[in-house]
Amino acid sequence: MIKQTKMQTLHIGFDDTDSRKGMCTTYLAYKIVNDLKKSNVEFLDYPRLVRFNPNIPWKTRGNGAVGISIRVKDPEKIKKMVKNSVTKYSDIKNGANPGLVFLQDEIIPKFLFDLSEIALYKLIHRNSIKKYSKKDRLELFNLGNGQGLIGALGVIGYRFSDHTFELLSYRSKQKFGSKRVIEKNLVKKMQEKTSASTFNSYDPKNDQVLITPNGPDPVFYGIRGEDPKSVISASKMLSHDEKLDGYMVFKTNQGTGDHLKNEIDIEKFQPYTSGTIKGTVSSIPSIEKGGHVFFMINTKCKNIRCGVYKPTQITHIAKNLTIGDIVYLGGGVRKASRKYSRVFNIEFLHIKKLVNIKKLENPLCKKCKKHMKSEGTHQGFKCIRCGKTAHEKNSKIIPRQIKVGLYIPTTSAHRHLTRPKERLLKRNLPKRLSKNIQWIDTF
Ligand code: ATP
Repeated sequence: MIKQTKMQTLHIGFDDTDSRKGMCTTYLAYKIVNDLKKSNVEFLDYPRLVRFNPNIPWKTRGNGAVGISIRVKDPEKIKKMVKNSVTKYSDIKNGANPGLVFLQDEIIPKFLFDLSEIALYKLIHRNSIKKYSKKDRLELFNLGNGQGLIGALGVIGYRFSDHTFELLSYRSKQKFGSKRVIEKNLVKKMQEKTSASTFNSYDPKNDQVLITPNGPDPVFYGIRGEDPKSVISASKMLSHDEKLDGYMVFKTNQGTGDHLKNEIDIEKFQPYTSGTIKGTVSSIPSIEKGGHVFFMINTKCKNIRCGVYKPTQITHIAKNLTIGDIVYLGGGVRKASRKYSRVFNIEFLHIKKLVNIKKLENPLCKKCKKHMKSEGTHQGFKCIRCGKTAHEKNSKIIPRQIKVGLYIPTTSAHRHLTRPKERLLKRNLPKRLSKNIQWIDTF
């Protein structure tokens, strides 16, 4: 009788394989998935592209890690193959610190969920993850300093409360580093036609294409959207002369705002933490060099300096705040500089309450409709036409230039995780991988 080998579940996570000079962790994922397809594995989910805390200092671009979950007969063969790919394709000579993790189990342990949640909004020191190398069914590999293991572990433990998709198309090798040519009008039209199911492809306010990166990485464009079908059909609207290598659709946490779920611990106010704070504006905003706006807020236990930066295009709102306004802010803690203590860099500004601004002015003569003149300190006021007198100044309410509400940066200033306006009320429910959708293709 032939012995039937049982299928095993294998979760794979990897991160930090790229540098600013080249490569991209998603491209490595595209290569690995193409190899896995040839090895007859069963995919349990779409490849996952998880963005972690955008405020950590050593990210290359968007702090993204990739996870792949499969069922396979010979996990050891697959592990060897993936390890070889990570070693072969990582840009170690230019500073990448790759991390690769295998979890050979259907059940994901709780400590991975916890680690993943913390990686989304805090800074984790790499020494603190050494303990995971001793855990059962978990295998950790790293090159360089091991920093990549944080993302690699985190992506396996990531629990999506909402998700979106991104189709990433890849260039052929000889095109890496050359200019990407794609017609702006096509992108604009594509966005107009698919705006209910795709997002952040084009910024109409700044007339800017947002799907093409600028660096030397292998990505030609990335189309973000609500479901795999939408991003695939949107990509078919974009004809171009460049012959691409192929594409892959990732399930992501982009556009979910998940890094801002937690309230910042004001007492510690640790640098590189992301989250929200509530407070009362306690200083008149100042406009500083470069057009950035800074103001203080008073929270339960501390005064905090907040910064709204020019590229967000919400500085015109921030500069009109005044003492007493109540605000709810999302963002990240920037470390202290030589000149300033820690600053809260704002990613969204929600004005909850605006105070009335009152101005004192000389009383109006009801008969002559003219402001009276002061008779001197504590001497009262007198109408110069009819001689009518009054004792006190009038208090007048000045109309505010801003309204209560939520203000989000302009699309081109969004981070990968920023929840765009059109997604404010959207939440995608978990969906199984569809066998009828061509989520990866090589041309
Ligand atoms: P790309 O978006 O192009 O893939 P990247 O911005 O993801 O690049 P990486 O080169 O992956 O940049 O660098 C991010 C590094 O930070 C990785 O080593 C990752 O493991 C690590 N990291 C992720 N989250 C945290 C965190 N919360 N604390 C500390 N390190 C983290």
